Amino acid sequence: MNTRLDPVLSRIDSDLDATLDRLMDLLRIPSISTDPAHKADCLKAAEWLVEDLKSLGAEAELCETPGHPMVYGKIGSGGPHLLFYGHYDVQPVDPLDLWDHDPFAPFIEERETGKVIRGRGASDDKGQLMTFVEACRAWIAEHGTLPCTITFFFEGEEESGSPSLIPFMEANKDRLSADLALICDTSMVAPGVPSICSQLRGMLKDEFTLTGPVMDLHSGHYGGPALNPLREISKIVASFHDDQGRVTVKDFYEGVQEVPADILEQWKGCGFDEEEYLSGVGMTESHGEAGYSTLEQQWSRPTLEINGMWGGYQGPGTKTVIPSEAHCKITCRLVGTQDPDAIRENLRAHVESRLPVDAKVTWNQDLDGSPAAVMNTARPEFEAARQALSAEWDREAVFAGMGGSIPIAGFFTTILGLDSMLVGYADDDDRIHSPNEKYGLKNFHKGIRSWARILDAVSKA
Ligand SMILES: [Zn+2]
Repeated sequence: MNTRLDPVLSRIDSDLDATLDRLMDLLRIPSISTDPAHKADCLKAAEWLVEDLKSLGAEAELCETPGHPMVYGKIGSGGPHLLFYGHYDVQPVDPLDLWDHDPFAPFIEERETGKVIRGRGASDDKGQLMTFVEACRAWIAEHGTLPCTITFFFEGEEESGSPSLIPFMEANKDRLSADLALICDTSMVAPGVPSICSQLRGMLKDEFTLTGPVMDLHSGHYGGPALNPLREISKIVASFHDDQGRVTVKDFYEGVQEVPADILEQWKGCGFDEEEYLSGVGMTESHGEAGYSTLEQQWSRPTLEINGMWGGYQGPGTKTVIPSEAHCKITCRLVGTQDPDAIRENLRAHVESRLPVDAKVTWNQDLDGSPAAVMNTARPEFEAARQALSAEWDREAVFAGMGGSIPIAGFFTTILGLDSMLVGYADDDDRIHSPNEKYGLKNFHKGIRSWARILDAVSKA
Protein backbone atom coordinates (compact mmCIF):
# COMPACT_ATOMS: atom_id res chain seq x y z
CA MET A 1 0.00 0.00 0.00
CA ASN A 2 1.16 3.48 -0.87
CA THR A 3 -1.60 5.67 0.58
CA ARG A 4 -0.33 8.74 -1.23
CA LEU A 5 0.11 7.16 -4.69
CA ASP A 6 -2.65 4.54 -4.91
CA PRO A 7 -5.59 6.97 -5.07
CA VAL A 8 -3.77 8.89 -7.82
CA LEU A 9 -3.43 5.71 -9.88
CA SER A 10 -7.10 4.84 -9.33
CA ARG A 11 -8.13 8.28 -10.48
CA ILE A 12 -6.04 7.93 -13.65
CA ASP A 13 -7.93 4.71 -14.42
CA SER A 14 -11.39 6.12 -13.75
CA ASP A 15 -10.73 9.38 -15.65
CA LEU A 16 -9.25 7.75 -18.74
CA ASP A 17 -12.16 8.64 -21.06
CA ALA A 18 -12.01 12.35 -20.22
CA THR A 19 -8.24 12.19 -20.53
CA LEU A 20 -8.54 10.73 -24.02
CA ASP A 21 -11.03 13.43 -25.04
CA ARG A 22 -8.47 16.07 -24.15
CA LEU A 23 -5.75 14.36 -26.20
CA MET A 24 -8.13 14.04 -29.16
CA ASP A 25 -8.78 17.80 -29.01
CA LEU A 26 -5.07 18.50 -29.21
CA LEU A 27 -4.59 15.96 -32.03
CA ARG A 28 -7.27 17.70 -34.12
CA ILE A 29 -5.07 20.82 -34.40
CA PRO A 30 -2.82 20.45 -37.49
CA SER A 31 0.26 22.08 -35.94
CA ILE A 32 2.74 21.31 -38.74
CA SER A 33 5.62 23.59 -37.84
CA THR A 34 7.60 23.45 -41.07
CA ASP A 35 4.69 24.61 -43.25
CA PRO A 36 3.97 28.39 -43.12
CA ALA A 37 0.35 27.64 -44.07
CA HIS A 38 -0.07 26.10 -40.59
CA LYS A 39 1.35 29.00 -38.58
CA ALA A 40 -2.05 29.80 -37.08
CA ASP A 41 -2.53 26.13 -36.17
CA CYS A 42 0.76 26.06 -34.29
CA LEU A 43 -0.39 29.12 -32.36
CA LYS A 44 -3.70 27.41 -31.68
CA ALA A 45 -1.98 24.31 -30.28
CA ALA A 46 0.21 26.48 -28.05
CA GLU A 47 -2.83 28.40 -26.80
CA TRP A 48 -4.66 25.13 -26.16
CA LEU A 49 -1.77 23.96 -23.99
CA VAL A 50 -1.60 27.23 -22.06
CA GLU A 51 -5.31 26.87 -21.23
CA ASP A 52 -4.83 23.22 -20.31
CA LEU A 53 -1.96 24.04 -17.93
CA LYS A 54 -4.08 26.80 -16.39
CA SER A 55 -6.82 24.24 -15.79
CA LEU A 56 -4.31 22.39 -13.60
CA GLY A 57 -3.82 25.55 -11.58
CA ALA A 58 -0.42 26.29 -13.14
CA GLU A 59 0.77 29.76 -13.97
CA ALA A 60 1.10 29.43 -17.72
CA GLU A 61 1.83 31.69 -20.64
CA LEU A 62 2.59 31.74 -24.30
CA CYS A 63 6.06 33.12 -25.09
CA GLU A 64 6.53 34.69 -28.51
CA THR A 65 9.63 33.84 -30.54
CA PRO A 66 10.60 34.81 -34.10
CA GLY A 67 9.10 31.42 -35.05
CA HIS A 68 6.39 29.45 -33.28
CA PRO A 69 5.70 30.27 -29.63
CA MET A 70 7.00 28.42 -26.60
CA VAL A 71 4.60 27.34 -23.87
CA TYR A 72 5.85 27.98 -20.36
CA GLY A 73 4.15 26.96 -17.15
CA LYS A 74 4.96 26.44 -13.51
CA ILE A 75 3.15 24.77 -10.66
CA GLY A 76 3.86 23.78 -7.09
CA SER A 77 6.52 24.58 -4.56
CA GLY A 78 8.72 22.35 -2.52
CA GLY A 79 10.12 18.94 -3.35
CA PRO A 80 12.58 18.47 -6.19
CA HIS A 81 12.14 20.91 -9.07
CA LEU A 82 11.61 19.16 -12.42
CA LEU A 83 11.64 20.78 -15.86
CA PHE A 84 9.42 18.83 -18.24
CA TYR A 85 10.02 19.19 -22.00
CA GLY A 86 7.83 18.09 -24.91
CA HIS A 87 6.88 19.44 -28.33
CA TYR A 88 3.43 20.30 -29.67
CA ASP A 89 4.35 20.55 -33.36
CA VAL A 90 4.06 17.61 -35.74
CA GLN A 91 5.59 16.38 -38.98
CA PRO A 92 3.94 17.09 -42.34
CA VAL A 93 1.45 14.42 -43.43
CA ASP A 94 2.34 13.91 -47.07
CA PRO A 95 1.97 11.67 -48.95
CA LEU A 96 -1.63 12.07 -47.88
CA ASP A 97 -2.91 9.26 -50.12
CA LEU A 98 -0.97 6.72 -48.04
CA TRP A 99 -3.08 7.53 -44.96
CA ASP A 100 -6.16 5.39 -44.53
CA HIS A 101 -7.95 8.23 -42.71
CA ASP A 102 -7.74 11.99 -42.15
CA PRO A 103 -4.52 12.51 -40.11
CA PHE A 104 -6.21 15.24 -38.07
CA ALA A 105 -9.45 13.37 -37.38
CA PRO A 106 -8.09 11.13 -34.60
CA PHE A 107 -9.94 8.02 -33.48
CA ILE A 108 -9.46 4.83 -31.47
CA GLU A 109 -8.91 1.71 -33.54
CA GLU A 110 -9.36 -1.84 -32.28
CA ARG A 111 -6.48 -4.09 -33.26
CA GLU A 112 -5.69 -7.69 -32.43
CA THR A 113 -2.82 -6.42 -30.28
CA GLY A 114 -5.07 -3.93 -28.44
CA LYS A 115 -6.54 -0.48 -28.96
CA VAL A 116 -4.48 2.25 -30.59
CA ILE A 117 -4.92 6.01 -30.89
CA ARG A 118 -4.67 6.99 -34.54
CA GLY A 119 -3.64 10.40 -35.87
CA ARG A 120 -0.66 12.60 -36.65
CA GLY A 121 1.14 13.45 -33.41
CA ALA A 122 -0.54 10.65 -31.43
CA SER A 123 2.91 9.28 -30.58
CA ASP A 124 5.29 12.09 -31.61
CA ASP A 125 4.86 13.98 -29.43
CA LYS A 126 1.38 15.10 -28.34
CA GLY A 127 0.37 11.77 -26.82
CA GLN A 128 3.69 11.46 -25.00
CA LEU A 129 3.59 15.07 -23.80
CA MET A 130 0.07 14.59 -22.42
CA THR A 131 1.07 11.50 -20.41
CA PHE A 132 2.99 13.84 -18.11
CA VAL A 133 0.36 16.59 -18.00
CA GLU A 134 -2.35 14.06 -17.15
CA ALA A 135 -0.24 12.49 -14.40
CA CYS A 136 0.06 15.96 -12.84
CA ARG A 137 -3.69 16.48 -13.22
CA ALA A 138 -4.47 13.28 -11.33
CA TRP A 139 -2.10 14.20 -8.49
CA ILE A 140 -3.68 17.62 -8.14
CA ALA A 141 -7.22 16.27 -8.36
CA GLU A 142 -6.50 13.79 -5.60
CA HIS A 143 -4.25 15.78 -3.28
CA GLY A 144 -4.65 19.40 -4.36
CA THR A 145 -0.89 19.55 -4.90
CA LEU A 146 2.10 17.83 -6.49
CA PRO A 147 4.97 16.08 -4.69
CA CYS A 148 7.45 18.06 -6.84
CA THR A 149 7.71 21.55 -8.27
CA ILE A 150 7.15 21.40 -12.01
CA THR A 151 8.16 23.75 -14.81
CA PHE A 152 6.54 22.90 -18.15
CA PHE A 153 8.42 23.81 -21.32
CA PHE A 154 6.79 22.97 -24.64
CA GLU A 155 8.34 23.77 -27.99
CA GLY A 156 6.61 24.18 -31.37
CA GLU A 157 9.58 23.88 -33.71
CA GLU A 158 11.10 20.49 -32.87
CA GLU A 159 10.15 19.01 -36.23
CA SER A 160 11.58 21.97 -38.13
CA GLY A 161 15.07 22.36 -36.67
CA SER A 162 14.25 24.30 -33.45
CA PRO A 163 15.59 27.67 -34.68
CA SER A 164 14.21 29.59 -31.65
CA LEU A 165 15.18 27.08 -29.00
CA ILE A 166 18.74 28.10 -28.08
CA PRO A 167 18.08 31.87 -28.07
CA PHE A 168 14.97 31.31 -25.93
CA MET A 169 16.81 29.10 -23.46
CA GLU A 170 19.67 31.57 -23.20
CA ALA A 171 17.30 34.47 -22.58
CA ASN A 172 15.26 32.51 -20.00
CA LYS A 173 17.91 30.64 -18.03
CA ASP A 174 16.47 31.72 -14.69
CA ARG A 175 12.91 30.77 -15.48
CA LEU A 176 14.03 27.38 -16.79
CA SER A 177 16.31 26.51 -13.90
CA ALA A 178 15.45 23.27 -12.10
CA ASP A 179 17.10 20.24 -10.48
CA LEU A 180 16.54 17.81 -13.33
CA ALA A 181 15.02 17.87 -16.83
CA LEU A 182 12.49 15.26 -17.94
CA ILE A 183 11.95 14.56 -21.64
CA CYS A 184 9.17 12.38 -23.05
CA ASP A 185 9.94 11.88 -26.74
CA THR A 186 11.54 8.43 -26.95
CA SER A 187 10.41 4.84 -27.43
CA MET A 188 10.70 1.63 -25.43
CA VAL A 189 13.36 -0.89 -26.46
CA ALA A 190 10.69 -3.54 -27.04
CA PRO A 191 6.91 -3.54 -26.53
CA GLY A 192 6.11 -3.50 -22.83
CA VAL A 193 9.73 -3.00 -21.72
CA PRO A 194 9.99 0.29 -19.81
CA SER A 195 13.13 2.13 -20.81
CA ILE A 196 15.18 5.04 -19.50
CA CYS A 197 17.62 6.43 -22.01
CA SER A 198 21.20 6.18 -20.78
CA GLN A 199 22.89 7.78 -23.75
CA LEU A 200 22.26 9.34 -27.12
CA ARG A 201 24.82 9.32 -29.87
CA GLY A 202 26.26 12.58 -31.16
CA MET A 203 26.90 13.47 -34.78
CA LEU A 204 29.66 14.78 -36.99
CA LYS A 205 29.02 15.69 -40.64
CA ASP A 206 31.64 16.21 -43.32
CA GLU A 207 31.88 16.25 -47.10
CA PHE A 208 34.76 16.47 -49.55
CA THR A 209 35.53 16.78 -53.22
CA LEU A 210 38.63 15.20 -54.70
CA THR A 211 39.78 16.95 -57.86
CA GLY A 212 42.24 15.51 -60.37
CA PRO A 213 42.49 16.89 -63.90
CA VAL A 214 41.16 20.43 -64.37
CA MET A 215 38.42 19.15 -66.71
CA ASP A 216 36.69 15.92 -67.72
CA LEU A 217 38.98 14.04 -70.14
CA HIS A 218 38.60 11.67 -73.11
CA SER A 219 39.62 8.21 -71.95
CA GLY A 220 41.24 7.51 -75.33
CA HIS A 221 43.48 10.57 -75.20
CA TYR A 222 44.24 10.53 -71.48
CA GLY A 223 43.30 7.05 -70.25
CA GLY A 224 46.50 5.67 -68.73
CA PRO A 225 48.42 8.83 -67.89
CA ALA A 226 45.49 10.62 -66.21
CA LEU A 227 44.77 10.52 -62.48
CA ASN A 228 41.23 9.22 -62.05
CA PRO A 229 39.56 10.86 -59.01
CA LEU A 230 36.95 8.07 -58.68
CA ARG A 231 39.68 5.46 -58.38
CA GLU A 232 41.58 7.53 -55.82
CA ILE A 233 38.52 8.37 -53.72
CA SER A 234 37.57 4.68 -53.62
CA LYS A 235 40.98 3.82 -52.14
CA ILE A 236 40.67 6.55 -49.52
CA VAL A 237 37.12 5.57 -48.56
CA ALA A 238 38.14 1.92 -48.32
CA SER A 239 40.90 2.92 -45.90
CA PHE A 240 38.46 4.34 -43.31
CA HIS A 241 37.82 0.86 -41.81
CA ASP A 242 39.96 -2.20 -41.21
CA ASP A 243 38.70 -5.71 -41.90
CA GLN A 244 37.36 -5.98 -38.33
CA GLY A 245 35.02 -3.04 -38.98
CA ARG A 246 37.05 -0.67 -36.81
CA VAL A 247 37.54 2.93 -37.91
CA THR A 248 41.21 3.60 -38.70
CA VAL A 249 41.18 7.39 -38.38
CA LYS A 250 43.80 8.42 -35.80
CA ASP A 251 42.51 8.68 -32.20
CA PHE A 252 38.95 8.00 -33.38
CA TYR A 253 38.14 5.92 -30.27
CA GLU A 254 39.45 8.51 -27.80
CA GLY A 255 36.64 9.04 -25.28
CA VAL A 256 34.79 5.81 -26.12
CA GLN A 257 34.09 3.75 -23.01
CA GLU A 258 33.18 0.10 -22.80
CA VAL A 259 29.66 -0.47 -21.47
CA PRO A 260 29.74 -1.60 -17.80
CA ALA A 261 29.02 -5.29 -17.29
CA ASP A 262 25.82 -4.77 -15.31
CA ILE A 263 24.32 -2.57 -18.04
CA LEU A 264 25.34 -5.11 -20.70
CA GLU A 265 23.55 -7.75 -18.65
CA GLN A 266 20.38 -5.60 -18.64
CA TRP A 267 20.62 -5.17 -22.41
CA LYS A 268 20.81 -8.92 -22.90
CA GLY A 269 17.46 -9.36 -21.20
CA CYS A 270 15.75 -6.25 -22.56
CA GLY A 271 13.58 -7.98 -25.14
CA PHE A 272 15.38 -6.59 -28.21
CA ASP A 273 14.66 -8.98 -31.09
CA GLU A 274 17.92 -9.10 -33.01
CA GLU A 275 16.67 -11.41 -35.71
CA GLU A 276 13.64 -9.28 -36.45
CA TYR A 277 15.75 -6.13 -36.42
CA LEU A 278 18.12 -7.61 -39.01
CA SER A 279 15.76 -9.66 -41.15
CA GLY A 280 13.32 -6.75 -41.42
CA VAL A 281 15.87 -5.00 -43.63
CA GLY A 282 17.19 -8.03 -45.45
CA MET A 283 20.25 -8.81 -43.35
CA THR A 284 21.27 -12.08 -41.77
CA GLU A 285 24.03 -10.75 -39.53
CA SER A 286 25.47 -7.51 -38.10
CA HIS A 287 28.19 -5.91 -40.18
CA GLY A 288 29.67 -3.55 -37.60
CA GLU A 289 32.70 -3.84 -35.36
CA ALA A 290 33.77 -7.41 -34.62
CA GLY A 291 33.41 -8.41 -30.98
CA TYR A 292 30.37 -6.22 -30.21
CA SER A 293 26.74 -7.27 -30.11
CA THR A 294 24.20 -5.77 -32.46
CA LEU A 295 22.80 -3.61 -29.64
CA GLU A 296 26.26 -2.39 -28.64
CA GLN A 297 26.99 -1.52 -32.27
CA GLN A 298 23.76 0.46 -32.42
CA TRP A 299 23.82 2.16 -29.00
CA SER A 300 27.31 2.41 -27.61
CA ARG A 301 29.81 2.24 -30.47
CA PRO A 302 30.77 5.12 -32.77
CA THR A 303 30.43 4.86 -36.53
CA LEU A 304 31.87 6.43 -39.65
CA GLU A 305 29.39 6.07 -42.50
CA ILE A 306 29.64 6.91 -46.17
CA ASN A 307 26.26 8.44 -46.94
CA GLY A 308 26.91 9.29 -50.57
CA MET A 309 29.63 8.98 -53.22
CA TRP A 310 29.37 10.24 -56.73
CA GLY A 311 31.23 11.49 -59.77
CA GLY A 312 31.64 10.92 -63.48
CA TYR A 313 28.98 10.04 -65.98
CA GLN A 314 25.72 8.69 -64.60
CA GLY A 315 23.32 9.02 -67.54
CA PRO A 316 22.08 6.22 -69.79
CA GLY A 317 24.53 4.40 -72.03
CA THR A 318 28.27 4.85 -71.77
CA LYS A 319 30.57 7.83 -71.91
CA THR A 320 34.30 7.30 -72.21
CA VAL A 321 35.21 9.97 -69.71
CA ILE A 322 37.78 10.42 -66.97
CA PRO A 323 36.02 12.77 -64.57
CA SER A 324 37.64 15.81 -63.09
CA GLU A 325 35.99 15.39 -59.66
CA ALA A 326 34.74 12.79 -57.20
CA HIS A 327 32.61 13.51 -54.10
CA CYS A 328 31.92 11.90 -50.77
CA LYS A 329 29.50 12.63 -47.91
CA ILE A 330 30.30 11.30 -44.45
CA THR A 331 28.57 11.27 -41.07
CA CYS A 332 29.86 9.84 -37.82
CA ARG A 333 27.68 8.82 -34.87
CA LEU A 334 29.61 9.67 -31.72
CA VAL A 335 29.51 8.23 -28.21
CA GLY A 336 31.02 8.89 -24.79
CA THR A 337 33.20 11.99 -24.75
CA GLN A 338 34.38 11.79 -28.36
CA ASP A 339 35.19 15.32 -29.51
CA PRO A 340 33.62 16.16 -32.90
CA ASP A 341 36.18 18.89 -33.63
CA ALA A 342 39.17 16.63 -32.97
CA ILE A 343 37.66 13.87 -35.08
CA ARG A 344 37.00 16.25 -37.95
CA GLU A 345 40.64 17.34 -37.88
CA ASN A 346 41.94 13.75 -37.84
CA LEU A 347 39.49 12.64 -40.51
CA ARG A 348 40.65 15.41 -42.81
CA ALA A 349 44.30 14.62 -42.11
CA HIS A 350 43.56 10.96 -42.90
CA VAL A 351 42.24 11.92 -46.33
CA GLU A 352 44.87 14.55 -47.09
CA SER A 353 47.78 12.25 -46.20
CA ARG A 354 46.53 9.73 -48.77
CA LEU A 355 46.20 12.09 -51.73
CA PRO A 356 48.37 11.22 -54.71
CA VAL A 357 50.43 13.89 -56.46
CA ASP A 358 48.25 16.17 -58.61
CA ALA A 359 45.10 15.52 -56.55
CA LYS A 360 43.45 18.23 -54.46
CA VAL A 361 40.78 18.01 -51.81
CA THR A 362 38.25 20.67 -50.78
CA TRP A 363 35.98 20.40 -47.73
CA ASN A 364 32.47 21.64 -47.19
CA GLN A 365 32.94 24.23 -44.43
CA ASP A 366 29.25 24.52 -43.46
CA LEU A 367 28.71 21.23 -41.66
CA ASP A 368 28.47 20.97 -37.89
CA GLY A 369 28.89 18.39 -35.18
CA SER A 370 27.61 17.69 -31.68
CA PRO A 371 28.95 15.39 -28.97
CA ALA A 372 27.03 12.45 -27.54
CA ALA A 373 24.81 13.00 -24.51
CA VAL A 374 25.59 10.58 -21.72
CA MET A 375 22.96 10.58 -18.98
CA ASN A 376 23.98 10.84 -15.37
CA THR A 377 22.37 7.52 -14.39
CA ALA A 378 24.21 7.51 -11.07
CA ARG A 379 21.82 10.20 -9.79
CA PRO A 380 19.36 8.75 -7.28
CA GLU A 381 16.39 9.95 -9.36
CA PHE A 382 17.33 7.46 -12.08
CA GLU A 383 17.17 4.45 -9.80
CA ALA A 384 13.95 5.80 -8.25
CA ALA A 385 12.40 6.14 -11.71
CA ARG A 386 13.65 2.70 -12.73
CA GLN A 387 11.91 1.10 -9.77
CA ALA A 388 8.73 3.10 -10.37
CA LEU A 389 8.65 1.97 -14.01
CA SER A 390 9.38 -1.64 -13.09
CA ALA A 391 6.41 -1.61 -10.71
CA GLU A 392 4.04 -0.17 -13.30
CA TRP A 393 5.03 -2.43 -16.21
CA ASP A 394 5.55 -5.50 -14.10
CA ARG A 395 9.01 -6.16 -15.45
CA GLU A 396 12.49 -4.73 -14.89
CA ALA A 397 12.99 -1.35 -16.52
CA VAL A 398 16.25 -0.97 -18.44
CA PHE A 399 18.76 1.80 -18.95
CA ALA A 400 18.84 1.67 -22.72
CA GLY A 401 21.14 3.35 -25.19
CA MET A 402 19.62 5.04 -28.19
CA GLY A 403 21.22 5.06 -31.61
CA GLY A 404 19.75 8.41 -32.61
CA SER A 405 20.50 11.97 -31.58
CA ILE A 406 18.14 14.24 -29.55
CA PRO A 407 19.86 17.63 -29.35
CA ILE A 408 17.64 19.04 -26.56
CA ALA A 409 19.32 16.89 -23.90
CA GLY A 410 22.69 18.37 -24.86
CA PHE A 411 21.31 21.93 -24.76
CA PHE A 412 19.89 21.39 -21.27
CA THR A 413 23.40 20.48 -20.14
CA THR A 414 25.35 23.17 -21.95
CA ILE A 415 22.92 26.09 -21.52
CA LEU A 416 21.10 25.30 -18.28
CA GLY A 417 23.62 23.01 -16.57
CA LEU A 418 20.88 20.41 -16.18
CA ASP A 419 21.00 16.63 -16.34
CA SER A 420 18.17 15.10 -18.37
CA MET A 421 16.18 11.94 -17.86
CA LEU A 422 14.48 10.61 -20.99
CA VAL A 423 11.54 8.29 -20.50
CA GLY A 424 9.13 7.54 -23.33
CA TYR A 425 6.37 5.04 -24.00
CA ALA A 426 6.33 4.92 -27.82
CA ASP A 427 6.72 1.67 -29.73
CA ASP A 428 9.14 1.41 -32.64
CA ASP A 429 6.26 0.61 -34.99
CA ASP A 430 4.33 3.81 -34.17
CA ARG A 431 5.12 5.14 -37.66
CA ILE A 432 6.15 8.54 -36.36
CA HIS A 433 6.92 10.90 -39.27
CA SER A 434 5.13 8.41 -41.61
CA PRO A 435 1.54 7.90 -42.76
CA ASN A 436 -0.84 6.19 -40.33
CA GLU A 437 0.88 7.19 -37.09
CA LYS A 438 -0.50 5.52 -33.97
CA TYR A 439 0.08 5.33 -30.19
CA GLY A 440 -0.98 2.35 -28.15
CA LEU A 441 -3.84 3.18 -25.79
CA LYS A 442 -2.13 1.01 -23.22
CA ASN A 443 1.11 2.94 -23.73
CA PHE A 444 -0.77 6.20 -23.15
CA HIS A 445 -2.62 4.93 -20.09
CA LYS A 446 0.39 3.23 -18.50
CA GLY A 447 2.55 6.18 -19.50
CA ILE A 448 0.36 8.46 -17.36
CA ARG A 449 0.48 5.99 -14.48
CA SER A 450 4.26 5.72 -14.91
CA TRP A 451 4.79 9.46 -14.53
CA ALA A 452 2.49 9.50 -11.49
CA ARG A 453 4.70 6.84 -9.92
CA ILE A 454 7.92 8.59 -10.98
CA LEU A 455 6.80 11.87 -9.38
CA ASP A 456 6.14 10.00 -6.14
CA ALA A 457 9.44 8.11 -6.27
CA VAL A 458 11.60 11.07 -7.29
CA SER A 459 10.13 13.23 -4.51
CA LYS A 460 11.47 10.67 -2.01
CA ALA A 461 14.82 10.00 -3.73
ZN1 LIG B 1 9.37 14.08 -31.28
